[in-house]
Amino acid sequence: MKTIFPLTLAFALIAAVAWIQADDEKSGTDEKETIIKVMKEAPKQPKEPVERTEEEWKKILTPEQYRILREEGTERANGKVYDEFKKQGAGTYYCAGCDAELFTSDEKFDSRCGWPSFYDPAKAKNVKYKTDFHLGYARTEVRCKICDGHLGHVFEGEGFDTPTDKRYCINGTVLKFVPAAEKAKKDEEKKKAE
Ligand SMILES: [Zn+2]
Repeated sequence: MKTIFPLTLAFALIAAVAWIQADDEKSGTDEKETIIKVMKEAPKQPKEPVERTEEEWKKILTPEQYRILREEGTERANGKVYDEFKKQGAGTYYCAGCDAELFTSDEKFDSRCGWPSFYDPAKAKNVKYKTDFHLGYARTEVRCKICDGHLGHVFEGEGFDTPTDKRYCINGTVLKFVPAAEKAKKDEEKKKAE
Protein backbone atom coordinates (compact mmCIF):
# COMPACT_ATOMS: atom_id res chain seq x y z
CA MET A 1 0.00 0.00 0.00
CA LYS A 2 2.78 2.36 0.93
CA THR A 3 4.43 2.07 -2.49
CA ILE A 4 1.23 2.20 -4.54
CA PHE A 5 0.36 5.77 -3.62
CA PRO A 6 3.64 7.44 -4.68
CA LEU A 7 3.61 5.29 -7.80
CA THR A 8 0.13 6.50 -8.72
CA LEU A 9 1.27 10.05 -8.09
CA ALA A 10 4.32 9.56 -10.32
CA PHE A 11 2.14 8.22 -13.14
CA ALA A 12 -0.28 11.11 -12.76
CA LEU A 13 2.64 13.53 -13.00
CA ILE A 14 4.03 11.84 -16.12
CA ALA A 15 0.58 11.90 -17.70
CA ALA A 16 0.15 15.60 -16.87
CA VAL A 17 3.53 16.50 -18.40
CA ALA A 18 2.74 14.48 -21.54
CA TRP A 19 -0.62 16.20 -21.81
CA ILE A 20 0.90 19.67 -21.50
CA GLN A 21 3.53 18.80 -24.13
CA ALA A 22 0.87 17.43 -26.49
CA ASP A 23 -1.12 20.62 -26.07
CA ASP A 24 1.96 22.70 -26.86
CA GLU A 25 2.56 20.72 -30.02
CA LYS A 26 -1.04 21.19 -31.01
CA SER A 27 -0.90 24.96 -30.65
CA GLY A 28 2.38 24.88 -32.60
CA THR A 29 0.57 23.19 -35.48
CA ASP A 30 -2.27 25.67 -35.29
CA GLU A 31 0.15 28.53 -35.58
CA LYS A 32 1.48 27.24 -38.88
CA GLU A 33 -2.02 27.56 -40.23
CA THR A 34 -2.52 31.09 -39.01
CA ILE A 35 -0.11 32.85 -41.33
CA ILE A 36 -1.69 35.81 -43.16
CA LYS A 37 -2.27 34.70 -46.73
CA VAL A 38 -0.35 37.01 -49.08
CA MET A 39 -1.85 37.34 -52.54
CA LYS A 40 -0.54 38.87 -55.73
CA GLU A 41 -3.83 40.20 -56.98
CA ALA A 42 -6.73 41.95 -55.29
CA PRO A 43 -9.58 39.43 -54.95
CA LYS A 44 -12.84 40.00 -56.80
CA GLN A 45 -15.17 41.92 -54.52
CA PRO A 46 -18.39 40.21 -53.44
CA LYS A 47 -21.47 42.12 -54.57
CA GLU A 48 -23.99 40.33 -52.36
CA PRO A 49 -23.85 39.22 -48.73
CA VAL A 50 -22.02 35.88 -48.50
CA GLU A 51 -23.89 33.10 -46.72
CA ARG A 52 -22.56 29.58 -46.22
CA THR A 53 -23.48 26.60 -44.08
CA GLU A 54 -21.19 25.63 -41.22
CA GLU A 55 -19.97 22.69 -43.31
CA GLU A 56 -19.09 24.96 -46.23
CA TRP A 57 -17.23 27.36 -43.93
CA LYS A 58 -15.23 24.48 -42.49
CA LYS A 59 -14.17 23.48 -46.00
CA ILE A 60 -12.85 26.88 -47.05
CA LEU A 61 -11.39 28.11 -43.74
CA THR A 62 -8.50 26.74 -41.68
CA PRO A 63 -9.60 25.50 -38.21
CA GLU A 64 -8.09 28.64 -36.66
CA GLN A 65 -9.88 30.94 -39.14
CA TYR A 66 -13.14 29.08 -38.48
CA ARG A 67 -12.70 29.42 -34.72
CA ILE A 68 -12.19 33.20 -35.03
CA LEU A 69 -14.59 34.14 -37.85
CA ARG A 70 -17.47 31.81 -37.05
CA GLU A 71 -17.07 31.26 -33.29
CA GLU A 72 -15.88 34.71 -32.21
CA GLY A 73 -12.47 33.38 -31.21
CA THR A 74 -9.28 35.38 -30.66
CA GLU A 75 -5.79 34.55 -31.93
CA ARG A 76 -2.84 34.39 -29.56
CA ALA A 77 -1.42 37.83 -28.70
CA ASN A 78 2.10 38.56 -30.01
CA GLY A 79 2.05 35.43 -32.14
CA LYS A 80 3.56 34.72 -35.56
CA VAL A 81 0.70 36.53 -37.29
CA TYR A 82 1.41 39.74 -35.40
CA ASP A 83 5.15 39.53 -36.19
CA GLU A 84 4.32 39.08 -39.83
CA PHE A 85 1.81 41.91 -39.81
CA LYS A 86 4.35 44.33 -38.34
CA LYS A 87 6.82 43.51 -41.13
CA GLN A 88 4.29 44.01 -43.94
CA GLY A 89 4.62 47.22 -45.93
CA ALA A 90 2.01 49.12 -47.92
CA GLY A 91 -0.97 47.13 -49.06
CA THR A 92 -4.60 46.16 -48.62
CA TYR A 93 -6.23 43.69 -46.24
CA TYR A 94 -9.22 41.58 -47.26
CA CYS A 95 -11.58 39.30 -45.34
CA ALA A 96 -10.40 35.67 -45.43
CA GLY A 97 -14.03 34.56 -45.34
CA CYS A 98 -15.46 36.48 -48.29
CA ASP A 99 -12.67 38.62 -49.87
CA ALA A 100 -14.32 41.94 -48.97
CA GLU A 101 -11.84 44.81 -48.65
CA LEU A 102 -11.57 45.81 -44.99
CA PHE A 103 -8.40 47.72 -44.10
CA THR A 104 -5.31 49.23 -45.72
CA SER A 105 -1.82 49.97 -44.48
CA ASP A 106 -2.72 53.70 -44.59
CA GLU A 107 -4.74 53.25 -41.39
CA LYS A 108 -2.36 50.73 -39.82
CA PHE A 109 -0.51 51.81 -36.67
CA ASP A 110 1.68 50.21 -34.04
CA SER A 111 -0.41 49.99 -30.88
CA ARG A 112 1.96 47.40 -29.32
CA CYS A 113 -1.13 45.54 -28.10
CA GLY A 114 -0.15 42.21 -29.65
CA TRP A 115 -2.74 42.24 -32.43
CA PRO A 116 -2.92 44.01 -35.80
CA SER A 117 -4.25 47.53 -35.23
CA PHE A 118 -5.86 50.08 -37.50
CA TYR A 119 -7.36 53.45 -36.59
CA ASP A 120 -10.16 53.12 -39.16
CA PRO A 121 -11.44 50.62 -41.71
CA ALA A 122 -10.62 51.41 -45.34
CA LYS A 123 -14.06 50.30 -46.45
CA ALA A 124 -16.43 51.32 -43.69
CA LYS A 125 -19.36 49.91 -45.64
CA ASN A 126 -17.86 46.41 -45.27
CA VAL A 127 -17.77 46.38 -41.47
CA LYS A 128 -20.51 46.34 -38.87
CA TYR A 129 -20.59 46.59 -35.11
CA LYS A 130 -22.17 44.68 -32.26
CA THR A 131 -21.93 45.05 -28.49
CA ASP A 132 -20.70 41.97 -26.67
CA PHE A 133 -20.35 41.19 -22.97
CA HIS A 134 -18.07 38.14 -23.25
CA LEU A 135 -15.60 39.55 -20.70
CA GLY A 136 -18.28 40.83 -18.36
CA TYR A 137 -18.29 44.39 -19.69
CA ALA A 138 -19.47 46.00 -22.91
CA ARG A 139 -17.08 45.86 -25.86
CA THR A 140 -17.74 46.82 -29.46
CA GLU A 141 -17.25 43.83 -31.68
CA VAL A 142 -16.21 44.39 -35.31
CA ARG A 143 -17.69 42.03 -37.88
CA CYS A 144 -17.45 41.73 -41.64
CA LYS A 145 -20.72 43.06 -43.02
CA ILE A 146 -20.56 40.86 -46.11
CA CYS A 147 -20.08 37.40 -44.52
CA ASP A 148 -20.95 38.25 -40.88
CA GLY A 149 -17.54 36.95 -39.77
CA HIS A 150 -16.04 38.06 -36.44
CA LEU A 151 -12.92 40.20 -37.02
CA GLY A 152 -12.07 41.65 -33.60
CA HIS A 153 -13.05 44.65 -31.47
CA VAL A 154 -12.76 48.43 -31.62
CA PHE A 155 -11.71 50.55 -28.64
CA GLU A 156 -11.97 54.32 -28.42
CA GLY A 157 -10.30 57.13 -26.50
CA GLU A 158 -7.15 55.29 -25.43
CA GLY A 159 -4.96 58.28 -26.22
CA PHE A 160 -3.29 57.03 -29.40
CA ASP A 161 -1.88 59.79 -31.57
CA THR A 162 -3.97 58.86 -34.61
CA PRO A 163 -6.66 60.84 -36.48
CA THR A 164 -9.51 58.92 -34.80
CA ASP A 165 -8.06 57.68 -31.48
CA LYS A 166 -9.79 54.38 -32.26
CA ARG A 167 -8.03 51.03 -32.13
CA TYR A 168 -9.46 48.39 -34.40
CA CYS A 169 -7.91 45.37 -32.72
CA ILE A 170 -8.15 42.75 -35.47
CA ASN A 171 -7.23 39.07 -35.72
CA GLY A 172 -4.62 38.92 -38.50
CA THR A 173 -5.48 35.26 -39.08
CA VAL A 174 -8.74 36.24 -40.76
CA LEU A 175 -7.12 38.72 -43.17
CA LYS A 176 -5.63 38.28 -46.63
CA PHE A 177 -2.94 40.72 -47.69
CA VAL A 178 -2.16 42.15 -51.12
CA PRO A 179 1.09 44.16 -51.09
CA ALA A 180 0.81 47.54 -52.85
CA ALA A 181 3.89 46.89 -54.98
CA GLU A 182 2.29 43.71 -56.35
CA LYS A 183 -0.94 45.54 -57.09
CA ALA A 184 0.86 48.37 -58.92
CA LYS A 185 2.83 45.81 -60.94
CA LYS A 186 -0.36 43.98 -61.98
CA ASP A 187 -2.13 47.26 -62.87
CA GLU A 188 0.80 48.23 -65.08
CA GLU A 189 0.78 44.84 -66.78
CA LYS A 190 -2.93 45.22 -67.43
CA LYS A 191 -2.37 48.69 -68.91
CA LYS A 192 0.35 47.36 -71.22
CA ALA A 193 -1.88 44.51 -72.39
CA GLU A 194 -4.67 46.91 -73.35
ZN1 LIG B 1 -16.13 38.65 -44.82
